[in-house]
Amino acid sequence: MAKATTTIRQVLNYQPHRAAWFAANQTLFNQIAAFYFEVIQAHEKVLDLSNKEALTALEMLTHATKKNPIPVMPLAALGAAIPAMFRRAAINAALGSARSFYSHLQKWRKRKEKAMAKGKTFTERPPVPPRTWNKSVPFYAGQWKERTASSIVLKVWTGSCWSWIKVRITGRELPLDAEIGSPSLIRRGKEWWLHTPIEKHFSSPAPIEKQVTTNAHTTICAVDLNLNEQTAVCTIQTVEGTILATRFIGGGREISGFRKKQLGRIARNRRRTGIIAEGEQDNAALWRKLGHRDEDLAHRVSARIVQFAKAHGATVLVFEHLGNLKPEKGKYSRRGNSKRAFWMKGRILRYAKYKAYHEGILTSRVNPRNTSRECARCYGVVVRYQQGQPAQGYTPGVPLVLCPQCAMKGNADRNASLVIGQRLIARYGQASQEKPPTPLLRQERGEKSPGVAVCQDAKGQEEPSLLQAGHADSNEHGTAQDVLLGMEKHTSDIPCQLRLPLE
Ligand SMILES: [Zn+2]
Repeated sequence: MAKATTTIRQVLNYQPHRAAWFAANQTLFNQIAAFYFEVIQAHEKVLDLSNKEALTALEMLTHATKKNPIPVMPLAALGAAIPAMFRRAAINAALGSARSFYSHLQKWRKRKEKAMAKGKTFTERPPVPPRTWNKSVPFYAGQWKERTASSIVLKVWTGSCWSWIKVRITGRELPLDAEIGSPSLIRRGKEWWLHTPIEKHFSSPAPIEKQVTTNAHTTICAVDLNLNEQTAVCTIQTVEGTILATRFIGGGREISGFRKKQLGRIARNRRRTGIIAEGEQDNAALWRKLGHRDEDLAHRVSARIVQFAKAHGATVLVFEHLGNLKPEKGKYSRRGNSKRAFWMKGRILRYAKYKAYHEGILTSRVNPRNTSRECARCYGVVVRYQQGQPAQGYTPGVPLVLCPQCAMKGNADRNASLVIGQRLIARYGQASQEKPPTPLLRQERGEKSPGVAVCQDAKGQEEPSLLQAGHADSNEHGTAQDVLLGMEKHTSDIPCQLRLPLE
C-alpha cells in the first residue's frame, strides 16, 4: 500500500469575540511550548530518546501526579491547569523545535571544528534557539468532538477558562476514505482556519516500466508546457499509440500581461526612487501580488492536468525535462517575465506530480531534445510556421506545424505533447532495438535550424507575447479540444530508420 498525505483547509465561522479566544489559546500554547523548550535545554539528554519516551520523561520532569508529587520543573508554575492533550501537543511542538535547533547546532560545531583543524578563521554565527514562539495549536483527540461536515466543537482557553465552543466550518469537505489527523487552528490574517491533515491509503501503482511493457491498454497523459498562451497542452494516448484526447490549458497570455504590467510598475518605481537601499525589499506589495498570481495559476493548471488525465483513465503522466533557463535580453519587464514563466513550468510540474500521485498516477520525464521539431507521426523534421505565412522553416513559438515527409498538419504544441508521450513509451518499448546509428533529424538539423542544439534553448526564445494571437482563438481557455487535427493514428508501420535515439 502507498499513502499520500494532504491538508484540508477550511474557513471557520464564529462570533467575532471568539477570535480573541483563539488568540489567547494560541498564546497559552506557545508559552507552554517555550517552557518545554527550556526544560529540554536543561535536560538535553531527552533528545536521545524517541518522541514517545521523551514525552514521558518531560512529563515526569514537569507534571505532578500521585507517584510524582514534586516534579523538578513544575508546569503548574505557569498558572492555569492544562488539559493533558493540550500539554502533550505543546511538548511535541517543543521537541520538534529542539530537535531542529540541536541538529543545526551540531552541524555548526562540526563545521567550526573542521575550520579550526585547518587553521582557518571561523566567523559563522551559531544557530540561536527560537526567540519568539508562534506555533499553531493542534487539537489532539480529547480537545475536539462532534465533528460534522459543517461544524466542530473545540476546547479552547478563552483567556480565563477552558471552554467547549462550537464553530461552523465552510469549504472543502473531508474525504470519506481518508484517515483524519489532528486538526489545527491556523491564523491567516484576521481569519481563523481549521487545517486537517488527512492520509489516504491506496494500492501502490505498478512501476511505469511494468505498466508500459505489460499492458497495451495502459493510457498515458503527456504534457507539453509552454511559455505562450497554451500554458499546458495535454494529450492522452495508449501504449499502442492510439491518440484518445487532447486538451489545451490556456492562461499564458493573461498572466504574461499581468506580469508585464506589474514588472513595469516596479521598474518605474525604482527609476523614480533611485537606487534601492541595500538589504531592503523594494515594492514588496507588488512582488507579493506577482507571486500570488503565479502560484495561483500553477495550482490551477496542475489541477486541470491531473483532472484531465484522471478523466481519461491515464495512469502515467509524462513531461519533458525542463532544461536550463536561458536569460532573455531586453527590457526589465521582458526579462523578468520570461524568467517567471520559466519558473512557472517547474512549479506546474512539481504540483502536478504531487496531485497526480494522490490519484495513483505516476509521473515521469523524458529527454526534451527536439520534442518540438519532430513529427509525432513519422519522426521526420517538421516545419513550424505562423498562420498566414508560408509553411517553411522553423519559427520557435508559433502555432502551426507541418511535416513535409508525411503531410501531418496541426498544432505545434499538440505535436510536441504527442512526441513527449511517445518518448516515454519508446523508452521501454521495442524502439530500443530500432535505434538508428545516425538519425535523420540530426543530419538535417544543420540546414533547418543552425546553431540550435537543444530544443529547450529554442523554446527559451518563445517570448510569451501579447501579440501572439491567432491560433488560440479556437481553443478557449481550458476547454477540452478533442479534435485530432489530422493526426488520428500513430501507426506501427513507421519507418524505423527515422527514430530518434532516446534517453
Ligand atoms: Zn511526419
